[in-house]
Formats: sequence, C-alpha cells, structure tokens
Amino acid sequence: MPIRPATAAAVAEAVALLRAGRCVGMPTETVYGLAADGLRADAAAQIFATKRRPAFDPLILHVAQGFDLGRLAQVSVAAQRLADALWPGPLTLLLPKAAVVPDLVTSGLPTVAVRCPDHPVAQALLQAFDGPLAAPSANRFGRISPTTAQAVAQELGDEVPLVLDGGPCRVGLESTIVDLAHPYPRIVRRGGLVPAAIEAALGQAVPVERPDHVAAPGVLDVHYAPRTPLYRLDGPLPAAAQLPTGLGYLYWQRPAGTLPSGACVLSEAGDDRQAAVRLFAHLRTLDGGGHQRIVAEPVPLEGLGAAVADRLLKASVGQARWTGTAFEYTARPEAGGGEPT
Ligand code: AMP
Ligand code: MG
Repeated sequence: MPIRPATAAAVAEAVALLRAGRCVGMPTETVYGLAADGLRADAAAQIFATKRRPAFDPLILHVAQGFDLGRLAQVSVAAQRLADALWPGPLTLLLPKAAVVPDLVTSGLPTVAVRCPDHPVAQALLQAFDGPLAAPSANRFGRISPTTAQAVAQELGDEVPLVLDGGPCRVGLESTIVDLAHPYPRIVRRGGLVPAAIEAALGQAVPVERPDHVAAPGVLDVHYAPRTPLYRLDGPLPAAAQLPTGLGYLYWQRPAGTLPSGACVLSEAGDDRQAAVRLFAHLRTLDGGGHQRIVAEPVPLEGLGAAVADRLLKASVGQARWTGTAFEYTARPEAGGGEPT
C-alpha cells in the first residue's frame, strides 16, 4: 500500500511525482484529495482517468498561503476580501479564469475554482511544489469521499503511487463553493464552511443557489453514494427492539436504550461539526457491513447540518417511512428510480 507518513522525505517524493505529471494522495482539512499539477492538462487528465470522473466535472485548484491569486484568475474586491478573511479554510472561490489554466481543469468553463487548504501537510506540499495543484476528492467518481489515508488506498488502491498520511480530516466535508463570477455572490455548494461566515466577511446576504453550469441536470444529483442503497428516514428511528435486522442504521444522535449492532451514530450529543467529521467514515463502515439497505435518520439543518443533509440526500436512492411495524420505501426519481438491480 502506497501510504506514507507525511515526513519531509515523503513530501519531497510527492513533489518529484507531481513534477513528473503523476497524481498523489494529499490530506486536507476537508477530505483527502487526489492532487496533480493544476497547470498541466496531461496531469489533470490523470486525475480524471484515475477517478473515472467525467470531463464535464471541473477540478478545484489548491494554492499555498500567500500565492498570488491574480496568476490564475481575475480577482474582484469581494474575492480578495473572502480570501483575506477565510483562507486558509474550507472555502472555494469561483472566479473568471486566466488563460494559463488548462480548459480540461475547468471543463471548458470561463471560470476557475480556487481554494487554499488549511492543513499543514497540504501547505507543505504546495509550498514545495511551488504551483497550484488540482485536487478533487480521492475517490472514484460518485462514491464516498475519503477522510483518512487508508480510505484513499481502499478507494484507489495501487493506481496512486503515493498517499501522504496527514491523519483523519478535521472538517470531513468538501469545501463550500462561492460563485463570484455571478452578478451577486452566491453559494453553489454547501460545505465545510457555514454560510454565516461568508456573509459576515462580505457584509451582505449570500444566497444558496443551484449552479447553472450543470450541463446535464440530474447527473450530479447522485454523489457520495455507498454501494448499499441508502434511504433517508422521514423521522427518528424507532426503538432498537422494533427494528428489522439485515439493515444498517445511521443515527443522528445516540438513542436512549440500546444501539442495534453495526449501527453508526453521527454525534452522540447531536453536534453538527462532529457529524460532519464522521459522515463519510460512517457511510464507508455501513457500506462494508453487508447490509441489504442503509436507513439514515434526518439531520437538523443548523450549522454544518445543512451540508451533511445535502450529502445524505445525494447519497440516497430514496426515502423511508416507518409504518409502526416495517419500513416503506419510496424511490427518488433523480437517483434513477431506486435500487440498482
Ligand atoms: P470537488 O469534487 O470537491 O473537487 O469539487 C468540484 C466541484 O467544484 C465541481 O463538481 C463543481 O461543482 C465545482 N467547480 C469546480 N470548478 C468549477 C468551475 N470552473 N465552475 C463552476 N463550478 C466549478
Ligand atoms: Mg468529490
């Protein structure tokens, strides 16, 4: 397995691979990324190939602290203000792109997504590489994002020559994306930074809107998905004694009484940040549990809860309802009409 603790020697080895146009696994505070030279189309092409990612899904460029953003994009006053206030951190800015950014990286769009990650290993790698790194989550397209180096190896195996181990991710959800190439700033993806932090930095309301760049509507409605069909329950799970066996359960909070075997709890005390940190690891655990289906409790939408709920919606194939004696399942049309056969 290509996992190495992120020593200076391992970082140097990663830089050599990146200079050769190869991909490496990189820890960030959000999730583990699959990094490659962000200014080389051939290197970006390796990311798409390794992830089996369709070319219409653009990549985010990661930069070191102090990097001159003007080299990659047109930087508005609002963009500079957000970068100054909230970088490094789980915030991605969409900006009009400079010619130096390959079209493959932006999927032919006139905008580029840029972020400065808040992780010492990512920063060390970016400083040593001395240029932007494209780095989507290090999982196969549409699957569960990895929040540990082990999960990267499990996802991508020997296709990646090196994964730098920087420990478990501190945030656990992808970055929040703010579109600044739009007539007004807007959030186009919820993520690890709450909207209130962005609104406070800009001194204005920043609405959450569906981006218009999604060329094939519906395609990205399924994401972060386990192989085991996941259903979102419309209320709290009933007492453990009533629950059918053979299913995997994802609890929002620790229930009173016993927990069914194999069940996972997002946060014992119902804390949104802890739930974010654990979400992908729990989905991975439940997916490996040999269950017929996974049933997930609703997540309150406060704080990072809204971003967690967004991930659970996209990971789901439908909704579940407890009738008092059994679960009733309804397929989600955007997910292709239910369970894969
Ligand atoms: P991730 O898979 O977490 O690396 O995030 C990639 C996502 O960022 C894409 O699926 C888009 O939603 C968004 N994104 C990246 N680049 C652009 C861009 N140039 N314009 C619009 N959205 C972008
Ligand atoms: Mg991803």
